[in-house]
Amino acid sequence: MTGKLNLNLNLGAGVEPMLESGIDSAARPDVENVIILGSGPAGWAGAIYTARANLRPLLITGNEIGGQIATTTEVENYPGFPDGVTGPELSERMQAQAERFGATVELDFVTAVDVNGPPFTVETANGKRYRANALIITTGASPRKLGVPGEDRLIGRGVSYCATCDGFFFRNRQLVVVGGGDSSLQESLFLTKFASKVTIVHRRDQLRAGPALQRRADTNPKIEYIWNTVVTNVSGENKVEAVTLKNVQTGEERQFPTDGVFVYIGHLPNNASIAGKLAMDEHGYLITDKLMRTSVPGIFAAGEIQDSRFRQVATSTGQGVAAAMEVEKYLAEMEDHAYLQRQEPALDRATA
Ligand code: NAP
Repeated sequence: MTGKLNLNLNLGAGVEPMLESGIDSAARPDVENVIILGSGPAGWAGAIYTARANLRPLLITGNEIGGQIATTTEVENYPGFPDGVTGPELSERMQAQAERFGATVELDFVTAVDVNGPPFTVETANGKRYRANALIITTGASPRKLGVPGEDRLIGRGVSYCATCDGFFFRNRQLVVVGGGDSSLQESLFLTKFASKVTIVHRRDQLRAGPALQRRADTNPKIEYIWNTVVTNVSGENKVEAVTLKNVQTGEERQFPTDGVFVYIGHLPNNASIAGKLAMDEHGYLITDKLMRTSVPGIFAAGEIQDSRFRQVATSTGQGVAAAMEVEKYLAEMEDHAYLQRQEPALDRATA
């Protein structure tokens, strides 16, 4: 490991930092200890733990603070909230906790990462350049689109990926929700607060969603299903007026009038800034080991960018915590290594 170390340890009043450090100034150091990319649960958990370890983390939020939970209506299965909590509130609480311990939050979007390091370089949409001895990548995943004609043109005009954000605009309207997973059912249930009818269109005749959500959806009089069917077109002049539905068994197509289409058909990893630079699986998710290490030493990852299986708030926070603890260990080892390197010439002189 080469390069000048600049560990920026906040050691508290009266304690001299061992290495060159920007500790006494509020300004950011030339080289950060750790930058966290992304502000979902994994990012906040990483920030809380690295901040409490006095590593003064810098967290760069991405385009939307909170990641996917910021667009989730209700989180019912995160331990400690027996009555559930809204996604935005949970995210705000996590941010407040990270900032309380000294994490710095930058509202910016990482456009490029240079993985040749440490220090690693991170460039942002606001034209900033940061360097850090360690990175935790928690850029998450984004909703998968249908990829059919009319979809992009009518985004914000009836096509949506966020019931929390847009459901309110569909009071007494008829809606189509696409997908058969937990998100589809959970957000369909939320949409029934506004819509007069919600039709779930699913490509198979069996739901992927868990039994609790299925039960609630099945007993909701506003929810109906259309099975073995996909959406092949979204139409409307200035707003959504209909979708074309295709029965995958018979091939038959028909027009289905609707005021809106909410798409919940899974996610794609947000890997643009690191594509081709770190090992990924065939679907573009980062490959990490049990210690949350990516293929480049010093770069760790947590949450959905490296986990296409569990994808829960609780598992993402756990992975963020693990990554933070490993960063702490990694930086301590770097510091020891640098200390020994500085001692070696003196020892050589003493023994010469
Ligand atoms: P998901 O579980 O991957 O479900 C995606 C759904 O979309 C599946 O039913 C899939 O069909 C369908 N689909 C995929 N590609 C499609 C396409 N091109 N056209 C039509 N349909 C398509 O995704 P998710 O519902 O977003 O859930 C993601 C993760 O978050 C899961 O682990 C889930 O358990 C978790 N989650 C949990 C909760 C909760 O516990 N309350 C709430 C939300 C999310 P197939 O079934 O045929 O594959």
